[in-house]
Amino acid sequence: MKGTGNARTDAWRQDGQLKLRETPMIFMYHGVADVDNDPNQLCVSPGRFAEQMAWLARRGLRGVGIAALVEAMRAGRQRGLVGLTFDDGYTNVLETALPVLRRHGFGATAYIISDRLGGTNEWDEGPTWQLMTGDQVRELAAAGIEIGSHAATHMRLAGVGPAQLTAEVSESRASLSVLLGTEIRGFAYPYGSMDAAARRAVRDAGYDYACAVEASLPEMGLMALPRIYVGQQDDAMRMAAKRLLYRSRIALRSRPGGGPSQAPAAGTR
Ligand SMILES: [Zn+2]
Repeated sequence: MKGTGNARTDAWRQDGQLKLRETPMIFMYHGVADVDNDPNQLCVSPGRFAEQMAWLARRGLRGVGIAALVEAMRAGRQRGLVGLTFDDGYTNVLETALPVLRRHGFGATAYIISDRLGGTNEWDEGPTWQLMTGDQVRELAAAGIEIGSHAATHMRLAGVGPAQLTAEVSESRASLSVLLGTEIRGFAYPYGSMDAAARRAVRDAGYDYACAVEASLPEMGLMALPRIYVGQQDDAMRMAAKRLLYRSRIALRSRPGGGPSQAPAAGTR
């Protein structure tokens, strides 16, 4: 919530100001569907997704959207909350993920590509899946799911010039805000691709926060919240391991030479 932040939480808007112990656990999903061919590992099956949400509930954890999570962080009451995010805006989020979330009373955030409403994931090599139309995005918002921006066209933002950053970051926020008639508070970098200029563009565009995928300690702040990829392989045991280890993984990656490997990580789309 704007205006309620103290000096510490205002500092979180700057790079490197979010401490490891303050870092929330945020899960990154794309689609929830049974698919035969999924080379980029973007989908979890409906059964597996239901199992993962039930796992959270059994552990007394509650899934929430990221704007709500950030508000809770500012108020010092984030304990027990897990951020749930869905990138790209696939129709199966509305059709398949939403009923499961509702069953548990969980919130989530869906990051929508503002210039691709009703289109497909044509930026991916591999199978094509349907993206929500404007009406479907409104339906998802009406069901209580936070809508954030996933840029205008789904391009990599690291190394991009100022005009393009404005078009992707600022204009996508404006156009989604018109679509929904509400303020858009969150952003998620396509492919998790960002640099200092992209984080500044997100900050200057008036977003409250942005989700990255991998973020090192010097990058970490409200403009680069790290996320944990959750996929089809993640059964209860692997979910427990992810919960135990996510902060150590961030610390490890932040050491010299500990950055992300050259090969793109699974599910970073
Ligand atoms: Zn994406």
